Amino acid sequence: MTIKKVALLGMPFDGFSSFLKGPAKAPDVIADLLKNGSLNGSTELGLELKGNPLITDAGSVDCKQTEQDFEHLKEKVSALLNDDFKPLVFGGDHSISFPILAAMAKKHQNLTIVHFDAHPDLYHEFKGNPLSNACPFARIMENGLAARLVQIGIRTLNKHQREQAEKFNVEVHEMRNWQGPELLQIKGPVYISVDLDALDPAFAPGVSHHEPGGLSVRQILDVIHSIDAPIVGADIVEYNPDRDINNMTAVVAIKIYKEICGKMLSN
Ligand code: MN
Ligand code: MN
Repeated sequence: MTIKKVALLGMPFDGFSSFLKGPAKAPDVIADLLKNGSLNGSTELGLELKGNPLITDAGSVDCKQTEQDFEHLKEKVSALLNDDFKPLVFGGDHSISFPILAAMAKKHQNLTIVHFDAHPDLYHEFKGNPLSNACPFARIMENGLAARLVQIGIRTLNKHQREQAEKFNVEVHEMRNWQGPELLQIKGPVYISVDLDALDPAFAPGVSHHEPGGLSVRQILDVIHSIDAPIVGADIVEYNPDRDINNMTAVVAIKIYKEICGKMLSN
């Protein structure tokens, strides 16, 4: 049996944010909070993360806020995968999922992506930019980087994105119909992408795009806990410290990180 180990990587990039800047500051804020000792290191399912030798801090990608940063991210994720780490990336805006998945797909065929978001991020292009944070899942699917895309929390579908979802066979679970994880049938290998605006702004005000009517923290944790398949990588994106109140969204990001990381270490 191979040892399961996780590498934490920061991607301080908001060069392709379609609305506000700020997510580039997220990895440092989260890293400081993880270090300051105020948070408990135990996961709900019984793993201890603090001081765990299977978790490595892989630092941050040096970002210049240009497309070139994506190449560095791809190289870094590929190197971690070659060393048998499961990468867990703190963004950054959601555009970073495309280069991460480009690296992931080289190692893992038949990936299932579980994607939490208020938005489907399936635009063919947005404001003239095909790499915008509104587009990553169009790029991922048209490049065949995942076999299955399951979206949860969606509440902003327009005509174009409905057509895109149909074209790429995306399983869209709209927020208005959400019943819980029972019927998802997730099989591995799994990649999890958490855009924090999937949450209701009441739980996570520190995001660029407030979209009311969203998931609770508990509803996201329920899905993560329900996954009974290997989770081989993850990202947590769109945290915007400029919009946060008393770090409450940063703490939500860390809570979600803990439960994903615990699952990554156990199967
Ligand atoms: Mn979003
Ligand atoms: Mn998104």
